[in-house]
Amino acid sequence: MIHRAIADTGLTVSPLGLGTVKLGRNEGVKYPQGFSIPDDRQALQLINLAADLGINLIDTAPAYGTSEERLGTLLAGQRERWVICTKVGEEFIRGASHFDFSPEHTRFSVERSLKRLKTDVLDLVLVHSDGNDLDIVQRYGTLEVLNELKQKGLIRATGISSKTVEGAIAALQQSDCAMVTYNLNEQQEGEVIDYAQAHNKGILIKKALASGHLCQTGEDPARQSMEFVFARPGVCSAIIGTINEAHLRSNQQTVQELLGS
Ligand code: NAP
Repeated sequence: MIHRAIADTGLTVSPLGLGTVKLGRNEGVKYPQGFSIPDDRQALQLINLAADLGINLIDTAPAYGTSEERLGTLLAGQRERWVICTKVGEEFIRGASHFDFSPEHTRFSVERSLKRLKTDVLDLVLVHSDGNDLDIVQRYGTLEVLNELKQKGLIRATGISSKTVEGAIAALQQSDCAMVTYNLNEQQEGEVIDYAQAHNKGILIKKALASGHLCQTGEDPARQSMEFVFARPGVCSAIIGTINEAHLRSNQQTVQELLGS
């Protein structure tokens, strides 16, 4: 598959990315059905399948339970094949989210992600917004610290996983990339995609399937969802969370049919 550039960072990503919430956490999540976290053998099989399908983008976060730590082990020996995206600001502790966007915590979190992921450099680090995007961008200095760590070579690209149009655009003015919610049910952040397209910034889509809720009814809802997402110019990659190999294969097949190989 033709990979897409994230701004002028030198990173190129496959149009389908792999989301890994379900590799690390199954409490406090908003999926339509409960699930068991895959064991190491199943998780490695999924990751190897993704790589074989040409997927090179994998998304994690400190807030996704054991996801980062597990990826550190699971990606051993294949680090170079992957563009790893992680985040700062949200922690999931004893069943609840806590937020800290301070410079001190940001530095601590990046150091911890480097250790957990067993790597010298994080490809993409996004501010994991609690919903107050604009406030975080204007008051906390989180992006400034991430950009400083980028200058030091610990990060290749910075940005925000946003929840508002204003916050995402303000973040893009001082970073490379935004991860936005954009699906058949939630389209407000489409404006951010247009902004990114006009200003050579990267866009990753989260919840392209509305966390699976769009897949509950209709004829081939995953395909309809992806058709919708990729119809908007400016989308670099849709990060779809799955632990089901058949879904991973069919999502990749659909993307290939929609975008050509
Ligand atoms: P999503 O990608 O919209 O949907 C994932 C759900 O859809 C899973 O339950 C999956 O179940 C199901 N699914 C996937 N492909 C399918 C198919 N072909 N047919 C039927 N069902 C299918 O939602 P998400 O996982 O919430 O978001 C995606 C990723 O974005 C996350 O994993 C995470 O990396 C990132 N994210 C980031 C934030 C943030 O604030 N930064 C928030 C949410 C998500 P199966 O496992 O059974 O396939």
